[in-house]
Amino acid sequence: MKLIRCKKCEDVVRLVHTEWRQCDCKKSGGQYNDDMISATIGGECEVIGIRNDWFNGTKKDRGDKKLNLIIQGEYDGDVQIHRIESGNGPKLKMDIVKLDSETNEITFTDDRKYIINVKGNKSPKTIEVPSNKKPSFKEKKVRNENTRGLIKTLLREGLIKEDYVTPSELKRLEGELDNLFQSVGVDVEFTKHFLDRVNDERNEKDITIEELRNIFKKIYAQYKDRLVKYKDGFEAVFRNNPTDINIPFVIGWDNENNELDLINKTVMRKKNFQTSNPMLYVTGKEPKVDDTPKQERFKKYKLTSGVVVRYYADSNRFEDLGGKPIEIDDIFDSLPEEMQNMVLAKMD
Ligand SMILES: [Zn+2]
Repeated sequence: MKLIRCKKCEDVVRLVHTEWRQCDCKKSGGQYNDDMISATIGGECEVIGIRNDWFNGTKKDRGDKKLNLIIQGEYDGDVQIHRIESGNGPKLKMDIVKLDSETNEITFTDDRKYIINVKGNKSPKTIEVPSNKKPSFKEKKVRNENTRGLIKTLLREGLIKEDYVTPSELKRLEGELDNLFQSVGVDVEFTKHFLDRVNDERNEKDITIEELRNIFKKIYAQYKDRLVKYKDGFEAVFRNNPTDINIPFVIGWDNENNELDLINKTVMRKKNFQTSNPMLYVTGKEPKVDDTPKQERFKKYKLTSGVVVRYYADSNRFEDLGGKPIEIDDIFDSLPEEMQNMVLAKMD
């Protein structure tokens, strides 16, 4: 994860690949390039790297000295930071060619001047950049203790955390929800893909752990009795309109523990989410239960004998006009032929 810190306004901004982001005073800005590893940055700013495994780590993990280092994201010989003059962007135009599984070759096709912190020519036409998923930063303590303190404070106060959901947070939520759903015999699970997607840039506004907690509490209030009635393999989507959050899930029957698994496959914030599966709207309000027994509808038939009977199609039974049951066998022969067929068909 790369952050820039503007030397004019001191604002710290996390770089993303989807847009050019700027600091408060707009003098600095940056964006990941299309290789998702290197970045174009502009203005008077410094680059700070934070290890992704720090973010993915638990509180305990973060106590690890090595993991916990705030890292200077640009150093002598660094090939990942491509500086332009303007803090307004846009990112540099370039062609990216994969050389092997670990290396890309970038050829700049932009007319603007750029500087890379390498020895010799600082504006090479082509440059090799590592392509492994985890950005490699030189592990070196930040020179300036003030900067180090500042970043730590920002992290602690969540100012540059941007509501990133960590695996441990999701695990904890899963535990809380298991306790809640236990009363109806449902085990709540989040897939690996759910965790990946919850932090995806495509959500635009980050999905927070609090939003998820609220939605699942509402799901419990509203659907707890219905969930257990769904069959093994039932797929649908929980949809929460106020937050635009959609959660596709599948029901799995766990024979071993004799409980129902509510497997949440993925999650996304999207306004007009399309699906061919049923959409279960999450409002938190329990559906009104109508306890009054429903009067089953009947039709009147005149038998060949002239007697009029009531026929209840749903339960395939007959009554006389006074409400007294009539055995089918007793009147079968005097039913019109199409009625006989229907009554027989329904007996299967
Ligand atoms: Zn600034």
